Amino acid sequence: MIQLYIPLNFLGVIYREIKQSMADMERLFSLLEENREIADAPDAVPLQIRGAEVHFSHVDFAYEANRKILLDVDFTIAAGTTTAVVGHSGAGKSTLSRLLFRFYDVSAGAVLIDGQDIRHVTQHSLRQAIGIVPQDTVLFNDTIEYNIAYGRPGAQRADVVAAAKSAYIHDFIESLPDGYDTMVGERGLKLSGGEKQRVAIARTLLKHPAILIFDEATSALDTHAEQAIQSQLKEIARDRTTLVIAHRLSTIADAAQILVMDQGRIVERGTHAALLNANGLYAQMWQRQQMQRHVVQEEEPGSGEL
Ligand code: ATP
Repeated sequence: MIQLYIPLNFLGVIYREIKQSMADMERLFSLLEENREIADAPDAVPLQIRGAEVHFSHVDFAYEANRKILLDVDFTIAAGTTTAVVGHSGAGKSTLSRLLFRFYDVSAGAVLIDGQDIRHVTQHSLRQAIGIVPQDTVLFNDTIEYNIAYGRPGAQRADVVAAAKSAYIHDFIESLPDGYDTMVGERGLKLSGGEKQRVAIARTLLKHPAILIFDEATSALDTHAEQAIQSQLKEIARDRTTLVIAHRLSTIADAAQILVMDQGRIVERGTHAALLNANGLYAQMWQRQQMQRHVVQEEEPGSGEL
């Protein structure tokens, strides 16, 4: 019996390993899988990036017939500038990033990059031009170096270290027992949400995309972590056309343009100061978030920075 048990047990271990790897791959590609129905046009050409101006031209969009999610969404992100999108949950903010990455095609209107309709360019060239820092970063079961270098296959250790320094995660990596060779992911060292996001930032810095989508995590952060994200965002967005899906208004107060969405429409737009002056939905959201911060401060008198 024991002779049978050992190989069966061994097979069980292999089976679990394969299942785990597949689960990781599934998580990684689930984002890309969303767009199975999107194919390159037969005459698709590579996207030509000049300054990387992004233009949503009168875009309507529905995931399902009869339920419009975006209605006449029209805005431009000038080359090299940052636009932030805010609004209540379900307003359609993340849908904008999915359309820019062309997971779906618009129902009406067009998405243009430097004047080129993204339906007419190859998906490969489009996705090469765009870097995404998602809310929840998936790590490979591999070294932390591999996880960063994934942004640019073939990158040298020196490039990885430079990117990690810019993403403020180098010191943390150096403090690990195996440094850049430390295994991370499901079966290695578990990183916190903030650490994972910094790995994603380093990965994106290495990819060096002309356009950046930064999907801010919804989870509550203390002021210290919020400030850290703010400075990282500044670093990564510098001279890049950037779309930030924002949940904390304090992190995007210096964006060149803020779009306020409500039920699939842009209802307000402008700078932080102009929107506060307008005293509309943005000003209400700002006041509510400021009040919440004060409540947290009072609840945690020990945490002076909050
Ligand atoms: P949050 O701040 O909660 O992330 P959001 O403003 O980013 O919200 P979206 O994710 O863009 O909102 O979703 C807008 C609407 O589209 C929601 O009503 C949502 O239920 C719907 N929706 C999102 N993804 C799909 C999908 N794959 N299929 C059908 N409906 C969807």
